[in-house]
Amino acid sequence: MPDGQGFPVDGLWATGRSGCRVRCVRGLSLTMAVVLAAGGCGDRAGDASRSQSPGASKPNILLITVESLRADHVGSYGYHRPVTPHIDALARQATRYSRAHAVTSWTLTSHASMFTGLYPTAHQVLGPKDRLGDAYTTIAELLAPAGYQRAAVVSGPYLSRKHNLNQGFGLYVDSPITPGGDKAAAKDITNAKVEAAVNDFLRHKRSTSRPFFLFVYVWDPHYDYIPPPPFDRRFVPESAEPIDVTDYEIGGTVTEKATPAQMDYVIAQYDGEIACTDAMLGRFWATLKELELWDSTAILLTADHGESFFEHGTKGHKNDLYVESLHVPLIVKTPNQKTATVDDRLVNLIDLHPTILELAGVEPGPTIHGRSLLADPRSASDPVFFELETSWYFTRQTTGEKYKKSQHWRAVVADGRKLIHQEEDGRWEFYDLVADPSEQSPLAATGGEGQQRLRALLADWQTSMKAVAATYEAGGEADLAPDDVKRLRGLGYVK
Ligand SMILES: [Zn+2]
Repeated sequence: MPDGQGFPVDGLWATGRSGCRVRCVRGLSLTMAVVLAAGGCGDRAGDASRSQSPGASKPNILLITVESLRADHVGSYGYHRPVTPHIDALARQATRYSRAHAVTSWTLTSHASMFTGLYPTAHQVLGPKDRLGDAYTTIAELLAPAGYQRAAVVSGPYLSRKHNLNQGFGLYVDSPITPGGDKAAAKDITNAKVEAAVNDFLRHKRSTSRPFFLFVYVWDPHYDYIPPPPFDRRFVPESAEPIDVTDYEIGGTVTEKATPAQMDYVIAQYDGEIACTDAMLGRFWATLKELELWDSTAILLTADHGESFFEHGTKGHKNDLYVESLHVPLIVKTPNQKTATVDDRLVNLIDLHPTILELAGVEPGPTIHGRSLLADPRSASDPVFFELETSWYFTRQTTGEKYKKSQHWRAVVADGRKLIHQEEDGRWEFYDLVADPSEQSPLAATGGEGQQRLRALLADWQTSMKAVAATYEAGGEADLAPDDVKRLRGLGYVK
């Protein structure tokens, strides 16, 4: 679509202060429409040259995913500790989605869904060695013809280019990923490398004639929870009992038998990791303001999944589809947005794909499953689905024998109710999310009309996802080096 000619009309038109038109779409507030009009028209100080190039009228877009960040550990989501002052500062001039959920509870599959706008069965990136098929279309690929410079800085093993999520990025910095095998990635601190690479892009590699799409994935809140000073002491209460958090997920000392005082220590260290990352985000905000990019940049901040602390008997993530594994922060600042709003709709991170394209004025592909948060709101009765299909490998401490535990979870939320199906155990769980939002009291399987509807929705969804997958060639296995496999083994993901 030529620049300056607006967008196809399916509603009415609004005129921005620079005189260009933007689509005023269904469900988009007048405030947000005006904000988009201003940002979408590229009225950036000293940026006249941009009007000469493709994409000159588009806003910059910054997408940040924070590893393993639960929504309820963010201040603007009600957390009692001052862990996230800079995320909260962003929320004060953005829209905070109070009920945002990841599509799954682990990194690779979650990011593949964000990038493609597809549910996991459809994009076929389900296991730890999987690679996204070349035939799939990512956000970065769709932004290329719209004139966007596409760059990424990533710091966790699953965002390595070997998994092919780098499709469409012109610059893909995955060097902050911890090299070597074993458990090095869990123990490492990568924020400094991420910060240096982001600064290098913003200050030296950023095009001055094109808008950018910058994706930043921040690994450090991932277990083991070993924050650097001063964050290692900042939130530890005097009553807490220190416990060794190394080798946290596999073979570590933190078990369901940990005392409340020990769990206080574990959670304080998790908070320390988050606070360390939040401090870096504060420096990002300062750099964007210094470079006069803050107003012209849409910022979308979220997490790839949540984290469990034995609410349903497990720790870490990639275990299940309960709320603590899925509920994530989602904060969206559109260009020039100055005021805070809260959106309580049920949102899934597959919605990021069409939302980012909406911000850029680019049409999404025909088969995506997400809905634009700006243009196409869900109604309360629209179902949202979740999926976890993966395998863990464990070693029996008594015999040294390796064994595999497979998990095939599916879940659907609609009408304030949730249905979870765990295939291996043949287990069905129903929850009333209004009366029991933390999913602690499963309802009896009565076979009533509401439960029947959820089962039918889940069955139809599985059939349709398989049909979508059949139209694409899967990406197969990533070409992992021995060190890559060792690293995933150290995290417990492969044998
Ligand atoms: Zn993750």
